[in-house]
Amino acid sequence: MFDAEPLDVVAIGAGFAGLYMVYRLREQGFSVHGFERGDGVGGTWYWNRYPGARCDSEIMFYSFSFLPELEQEWPLTERYPGQPDILRYLEEVASRLDLRKDFTFGAEVTAIEFDEAADRWTLRTAQGHLATARYVVTAVGCLSAANQPGFPGADAFQGLSLHTGNWPREPVDFTGKRVAVIGTGASGIQAIPVIAGQAAHLTVFQRTAQFTIPAENGPLDEQFVALWKRNYPEWRRRARHSAAGFPYTPSITSALEVSEAERRAAFEAAWGAGGFTFLSGTFRDLALDEEANKTAADFVRAKIAEIVHDPDVADMLKPRDFPIGTKRLPLDTNYYETFNRQNVSLVDLRRTPVEEITPAGIRTTAGHHDLDVIVYATGFDALTGPLEALGIRGRGGQALRDAWREGPQTYLGVAVPGFPNLFTITGPGSPSVLSNMPVSIEQHVEWIGDCLAWLRGHGGEVIEATGQAAAGWTDHVQQVASVTLHPKAATWYMGANIPGKPRVFLPYIGGVSNYRDHCAAVAANGYGGFAVFPAPAPRPVGKGDDGTRPGDGRAA
Ligand SMILES: Cc1cc2nc3c(=O)[nH]c(=O)nc-3n(C[C@H](O)[C@H](O)[C@H](O)COP(=O)(O)OP(=O)(O)OC[C@H]3O[C@@H](n4cnc5c(N)ncnc54)[C@H](O)[C@@H]3O)c2cc1C
Repeated sequence: MFDAEPLDVVAIGAGFAGLYMVYRLREQGFSVHGFERGDGVGGTWYWNRYPGARCDSEIMFYSFSFLPELEQEWPLTERYPGQPDILRYLEEVASRLDLRKDFTFGAEVTAIEFDEAADRWTLRTAQGHLATARYVVTAVGCLSAANQPGFPGADAFQGLSLHTGNWPREPVDFTGKRVAVIGTGASGIQAIPVIAGQAAHLTVFQRTAQFTIPAENGPLDEQFVALWKRNYPEWRRRARHSAAGFPYTPSITSALEVSEAERRAAFEAAWGAGGFTFLSGTFRDLALDEEANKTAADFVRAKIAEIVHDPDVADMLKPRDFPIGTKRLPLDTNYYETFNRQNVSLVDLRRTPVEEITPAGIRTTAGHHDLDVIVYATGFDALTGPLEALGIRGRGGQALRDAWREGPQTYLGVAVPGFPNLFTITGPGSPSVLSNMPVSIEQHVEWIGDCLAWLRGHGGEVIEATGQAAAGWTDHVQQVASVTLHPKAATWYMGANIPGKPRVFLPYIGGVSNYRDHCAAVAANGYGGFAVFPAPAPRPVGKGDDGTRPGDGRAA
């Protein structure tokens, strides 16, 4: 139970990140407490209970690596774990490590303010909790602030309105219902085939046609699992030292240096095998070169034409206005096939936009759709959304939201100048959503734990990223993105799905392994790029460790 004593550390969130952070700091002897808005652990997998919700990372590496016993015992049943399986896994982690006692659930953090006189943070929740701590770690996830589009009349709808990212705990029965799904991102693509199998009629409202690759989900072979489990440490090592946190071997071949037939064979094999290797495992330049990218995009467009019987529907489903892979690539089970069902229709919102939600359904410029249920599969205010919603105020009472008005400024995605003693797990400017996230989460948690241990060992109480270090890192994040095709697309990676959000590339695309090495070098250099107070002795070499107090000019 939370007893309102001053703490060393407060953590927010009880998903992968919050669970490991609280455990790690507790083991290191810090007084630490977590606050979680939900009534239980699980984070993403607590909230996203929509039909078809499933991970696109394969089960063998969508788990913690710091629990070798659980790693051996946990059943690896199917290739991609479904939401209930992952929730069960995280509940098991919480039970084994006795973590629930260190969290307050049903507690939504709405204000976190830095007291410059005391060098401490004060945290408040909407439910009236009050806590003070030397350090704050946000473990609020990148995809936890649901994006609810503001269609006129939405509140007046008399049927059931649901958001995939905030799904009810009890299963929803669509039998005999007229259902709309608005949105065809990764969540919509998972939900649509399953809802179509239950509903009397499903109308899919599509704003942007999507490339999706078959998941080829299925049970895992026992021998494969046994072999995998025997070699777990090596797979984990490879994942940590990879581009995206997956232990795959990327291709070294250009799509433009092989013949048409060879290219087609490579794409065909990857399509048949299923999964993300369609991009990373086929050719090395799909994310970098427009012509190379077009070969993959053309392949998928041809597949859509083959799969979907009605040529008009197939045409509407073909993505044309962004390079493949620049939007988060969904994996699907029978997505395009679903549009051959008699009970499914597709509305192209580019041609016929929504005018309003009425009490009885949705009116577009082409007419009215009578509905019983509207499912919003409209995604998230990614990365910055959950952080800005915390009501964080740093030095001089500056709101994080104001500091990031032109886009997030972070050092390594884990610290923000002007906000001392605040750490952001998988924050903007870190590999985060471009990686297999448990790998990136573990790296951040361990780095933060080591940093706090180092401060304690060196008598440091306040640590703050310098403005100069954050500006340099933020520029680097944008520069690396600019050599890829990513900035060419209007995506949630660029903040483009939220009206008024600054258009900057939010995650770091320089690679998990490079990033990890960089963070390790910063730590080894006595936390270069951070100001520390009182300055440690003997003085480490690095920026911001000249003994000045953070916030007195150097860190601005
Ligand atoms: C549908 C879906 C599919 C995904 N598939 C994959 C995948 O295939 N591979 C992959 O690597 N990643 C995937 N992800 C990303 C996924 O979010 C991460 O893998 C991982 O679960 C993140 O863990 P986390 O602890 O950082 O954040 P989360 O799991 O999001 O947990 C954050 C927690 O913080 C809490 N919180 C937020 N704000 C507050 C507040 N103000 N007060 C109190 N509590 C708060 C939330 O309630 C939540 O429980 C997927 C995400 C979604 C939504």
